[in-house]
Amino acid sequence: MTTAQPLDVQPTPLALLLLGREADPKSERGVECPGDLPSPSDPDLVERARAAKEKLGDKVFVLGHHYQRDEVIQFADVTGDSFKLARDAAAKPEAEYIVFCGVHFMAESADILTTDDQKVVLPDLAAGCSMADMATAEQVAECWDVLTEAGVAEQVVPVSYMNSSADIKAFTGKHGGTICTSSNAKRALDWAFEQGEKVLFLPDQHLGRNTAVRDMGMSLDDCVLYNPHKPNGGLTVEELRNAKMILWRGHCSVHGRFSLDSVNDVRERIPGVNVLVHPECKHEVVAAADYVGSTEYIINTLDAAPAGSKWAIGTELNLVRRVANAHPDKEIVFLDKTVCFCSTMNRIDLPHLVWTLESLAEGNLVNQIQVDKETESFAKLALERMLALP
Ligand code: SF4
Repeated sequence: MTTAQPLDVQPTPLALLLLGREADPKSERGVECPGDLPSPSDPDLVERARAAKEKLGDKVFVLGHHYQRDEVIQFADVTGDSFKLARDAAAKPEAEYIVFCGVHFMAESADILTTDDQKVVLPDLAAGCSMADMATAEQVAECWDVLTEAGVAEQVVPVSYMNSSADIKAFTGKHGGTICTSSNAKRALDWAFEQGEKVLFLPDQHLGRNTAVRDMGMSLDDCVLYNPHKPNGGLTVEELRNAKMILWRGHCSVHGRFSLDSVNDVRERIPGVNVLVHPECKHEVVAAADYVGSTEYIINTLDAAPAGSKWAIGTELNLVRRVANAHPDKEIVFLDKTVCFCSTMNRIDLPHLVWTLESLAEGNLVNQIQVDKETESFAKLALERMLALP
């Protein structure tokens, strides 16, 4: 493996602080841990996590998102993307505690899909998602008012990315829409355009635009960008009436870092390299890439790639590093010049996991994520529409 980029680097508290410093103060990030965390330098952390997990036995089921640190992933019973993990949790009704090593919206989705007896726990309540935080319930309700006043709301079907809060999923369910993942976004849009004439795509503008233009043959002019921080979303009534895709102005702070320069630069440095990126990347990056797909698609593509092939990957660094280590016979590099972890996901570290498991083993339920019943029922409706997509 050639490590043209520093794949062996570990996330540091300083790097995470800097990456996360534009946090929305209204979000759940910044919440202090309610208990005494073990020191990160405690040499017994691995043993303590193992002992607590063993004591809990079948009562606990640990989920590890693909972007999670290795020190945490080693204790995961299953790994995957957010939707797969929520479904894995639902398929394990005997587990009383679901410890979700991921971010807040993922734990909410797991709570929505699991039984009332199961308790979903997020080891660090400060692990939010900057993209999910970019669409609040109040902002989306205001947007719907703007669409209503423009006389287009009745033609609009909301489609929300899995990476959204339970409130946004509930809004989507209430207004006849569906949830999508990065794997089924095209199917969700096909379905939505059978139900209505326009789509309000939340909260990731890039996934919405890339799917509409790249997979569905729309033009960039068919898309408008709704900015929740501007009056009327910064759009005229005419723009709203002419648009097919109304894209929410949200993005992933990790995937949004990749640029056309990163693609051009890696092609120059590594002749014959295949550029493989996630659809949360900007449109110009996706347009310049050779392959585009979800996290699972990226893993499967690299698993199937021939020995000796060269790859530059545009997604979160923990995942790229793990896949590169699993394929020493292929040249796998990170697409960006700078280190790019998901800062909030990386807040879940071994001390938080140890604290969580030991608390549960002592009978103390900590950091439970609970979605209220009304929100849950509408959010579930939207999720069920996704599961029923053809
Ligand atoms: S990688 Fe991006 S979308 Fe995923 S959890 Fe982190 S900030 Fe959110």
